[in-house]
Parts: sequence; C-alpha cells; structure tokens
Amino acid sequence: MSALAFDMNTPTGFAARLIADPLPAGWTGATFPVFNPATGGHLADVADMGPTEATAAVATATGALPGWAGRTAKDRAAAMMAWHDLIIRNRDELARLLTLEMGKPLAEALGEVMHGASYIAWFAEEAKRLNGEIIPSPDPRRRMLVLRQPVGVVAAITPWNFPSAMIMRKVAPALAAGCPVVIKPAEDTPLSAIALLRLATEAGLPDGVLSLVTCQRAPDVARVLTEHRGVRKLSFTGSTAVGKLLMAQCAGTVKKISLELGGNAPFIVCEDADLDAAVAGAMLAKFRNAGQTCISANRFLVHEAVMAAFTEKLMARIAGLQAGDGLAGGTTLGPIINARGLDNVDSLVQAAVAEGASLLTGGHRLDRDGTFYAPTVLTGVTPAMEIFRAEIFGPVVTLCSFSNISEAIALANDTDYGLAAYAYTRDMNRMWLLSEALEFGMVALNDGTVGSEAAPFGGMKESGIGREGSRHGIDDYVELKYVGMGGINQSAA
Ligand code: NAD
Repeated sequence: MSALAFDMNTPTGFAARLIADPLPAGWTGATFPVFNPATGGHLADVADMGPTEATAAVATATGALPGWAGRTAKDRAAAMMAWHDLIIRNRDELARLLTLEMGKPLAEALGEVMHGASYIAWFAEEAKRLNGEIIPSPDPRRRMLVLRQPVGVVAAITPWNFPSAMIMRKVAPALAAGCPVVIKPAEDTPLSAIALLRLATEAGLPDGVLSLVTCQRAPDVARVLTEHRGVRKLSFTGSTAVGKLLMAQCAGTVKKISLELGGNAPFIVCEDADLDAAVAGAMLAKFRNAGQTCISANRFLVHEAVMAAFTEKLMARIAGLQAGDGLAGGTTLGPIINARGLDNVDSLVQAAVAEGASLLTGGHRLDRDGTFYAPTVLTGVTPAMEIFRAEIFGPVVTLCSFSNISEAIALANDTDYGLAAYAYTRDMNRMWLLSEALEFGMVALNDGTVGSEAAPFGGMKESGIGREGSRHGIDDYVELKYVGMGGINQSAA
C-alpha cells in the first residue's frame, strides 16, 4: 500500500512530503518498512544504514566539532533557536507524523513535540551560562581556574515511545555545550527523527553537527557508536537490559555515559488522599501513551481503608477511555507499539492471574485492527508476582494494598528500578517522609506527571545514570578542565 493511501489521515504538508520521500538524497541502499501500529498499514520505507554509514557519521561529526565548539555560546544559542522556531511552526505536522508511526493520540503527540522543543529553548539559554570558575588558591603563587568544555562527539540512541522528545532532550544540551551528535533512532519510529533533522538543516545548523543513522538492526550500528574512539559520550534512553549492554560496550574506550532506562513506578494512595485528585493523577500516570512510558505508574499501592473507594472511582474513569487511531477525534488510548510489545503485556497479565491476582476488567487484546490491549485492572497483586517486578509497558493497573506508611515505602522501594514515584496525601509530615525515603530520582506528590525542561529528569539504581533538563542537564555534556597558573610573584610587579 502506498503511503498516500492514508487519504484523510495523511498529513498534507511537510509530513506528507517526508512520508512520500523519507530517504536521504542519493540513497540507493537497502530500506526497511515503517508501519502504523493503529492500523497495521505500511507508512514508508526508510534507509537501512549499517556500520559503514555509522562510521561515516562519526567522521562527519568529528569534522564539525571544532567549528561548532568554537562558535560563541550566543551564536550556538541563536542557531538552536532557529531550529526551535521551525519545530514550533511545524508542530502540527510533526505531531501527525508521530501519531502515524507511534500511535499515541494526536493531542499527546502535540504535547510531546512541544515538550521536546522546550528543552531546545531551555538549553539555548543555558549555553550562555556555561561559566567556568576561579577557585581561591591556597598557594599565593598559583591561580586556579576551571574551564567547562564540550565533551566531544556524542552518540544518542533513542526509544520508540517518545520518538521526538527523546531526541530533542539529548541533542539540546549537547548542542548547547558545543558537541555534535550522531543519532540512532528506534527502528519502529524513524520518521520523527528524519523530520527533526530536515528542520535542523532548514534552520541552518551547520553540516555534520547533527547526523542520523536509521537502521533496522540496532546492534550493528550501536556497536560502532559505543566502540568508536571518536565518540566521547553515549546518551541512551531505552530498556535497562540494553542499557547494561551498551554500558559494557562503552567500557573499552571509557566513554562518558548517560543512561535513561526503565522504571517500575509506585503510585501510593494514602488514607487521607483527595481520592478524586488521586484518580485523575492515576489516569495520567497510567494511561498516557497507553502505559508505554518509563514513568508510567506500574504498581498502585493503596491504603486498605480507601482501596474500595479508589478502585470504584478509577474503574468509572477507565470505562470512559476510548481506544482507537490516534488521529481520530475522541481517541484517548492508542495501540501498543507492535505485536511483540502486545505479547509481553498479555503474558504478564496472564501470569499474574495464574499466580492469584483477580481481573476486574480487561485482560485481553482488543478485537480490532492494530495492536491494542484492553484497559486492564488487576487486584490482589503481591510482591511475589512477576508483574510487580517487571516494567509492564501497557494499559494495566495493578492494585496492592498496604496498612501503614512504612509498609507502603518498603513496598515502593522493593524494586531494582528507581525512576519515578507518585504519592497522594494531604499530610505535610508524610510528604516529607515520602520525599526523603523513596529511592527514586523523581517523586511526584499529588501530581500525575513529572516531566519538565526546568527539572532534572533521571533515575537511581538500575533506572540510569545522569539527568536530562534543568541547569544540571548540561553537565553530562561538558568536561571540567582544571588550569593551574603557577609562578606568580606579585611582589615583582
Ligand atoms: P530498547 O532498549 O529496546 O531500545 C532502545 C534503543 O536501543 C532503540 O534505538 C533500539 O533500536 C536500540 N537497541 C535495542 N536493542 C539493542 C541492542 N541489542 N544493541 C544496541 N541497541 C539496541 O527500548 P524500547 O523498547 O525502544 O523503549 C522502551 C524502554 O525505554 C523502556 O524500558 C522505557 O522505560 C525506557 N525509557 C526510559 C526513559 C527514561 O527517561 N528513563 C524514557 C523513555 C523510555
């Protein structure tokens, strides 16, 4: 089926041109197909690059490094803002493209594009504040300075669940610091990446500062990016299993690494919580992107005194979810990314039922085109069950009760992951206790979301290394260089 057969659902401008012609100029090599997970339809064929193209991209980035790093921060910021402004101007087209290849509802896709762009604007400003230091010297004959310099060529490997924002979140601080970036997007969602790179070229970002290696076989290209001496830093967002693999591959050249990995977020509802607010937060934290986010609430830990009331209110909201094509009006629940993802979700649910959990609703695929899973609620979930330990990555609520706050904290921390945690309570003392005792990089109190360009995003334990966003986010892309100036004799002046 040709891409243009998507008639009314096909975007008409920038995105349609890209879908009709996604290949780099002059590309005659192999291609791989991209599908729409909401319909199963074929969208486009994209360049299937390999180690040769990855090596060439690193060489191009290495060539671009001195020029880009040598520009003034003000110049780099201006170039970044030109790209940002083009992204904003094309936001609707970018959102439609994102929904077509990934499936999330159009409003969420638009939110993702805007969220990603906010990192470009934020780090364009931060570029101008990459100050060094002068340290009071303990030796009168020595002056002590610290320079903050770009780390060098960066490789960025990104997942399919936020095909647009995950690229912008990495590229923005890297560009601000003066680092060129070679990007390898996920094989399921390369179109948003191609779109962002085309806009970067149109905005006038210098050649080689950003390059893209689209491919179907990630391990071959990733090996080049992790083992190449010319790449000085890897920034990876994806599963913990692959993150560990890439971390090991980076060891041979002692690269700097940032890892944004998987999560297993607890969502704690205390007995004094505003239950309507908790349910609203739960819907956001669980069903955004059909539960396919690293910060998705994975384990609902609910005080036994409010379990029945919370469950009843949540079930009522879940009944209102509308599964469908993200481009159709009214859709609030998109598909699972692919058949493998759907199998994973279903097998976790079936295993939980076999282990003694009870289904209150769902527990099956939806009988329609595309890869959809029914919104599901499991009650009686315990820490002994696999579903309590695993990242579900689907629209599945698991309910587990607790009787006091210490028990809730112990249950919440009983995981190797440590990305996001949510808690609802009106008690100020409990808020402090939860903030300090939860072993997670981000704690949302009385809120269903945590992402902001102004805040440090990232995980503890096996959820990762490093932070994206905030004034701290640029640190991952700079080297501190100490300069000691000795032999100073002021009495000789
Ligand atoms: P994934 O690990 O399968 O893939 C991520 C990237 O790694 C893709 O580009 C993929 O092509 C590549 N890859 C896959 N296998 C590889 C291999 N053997 N060698 C080298 N590269 C390989 O993850 P995914 O399924 O695309 O994304 C979902 C995961 O990402 C979830 O675990 C989610 O929690 C995590 N995630 C984390 C964050 C965060 O900020 N912490 C954000 C979004 C997603």
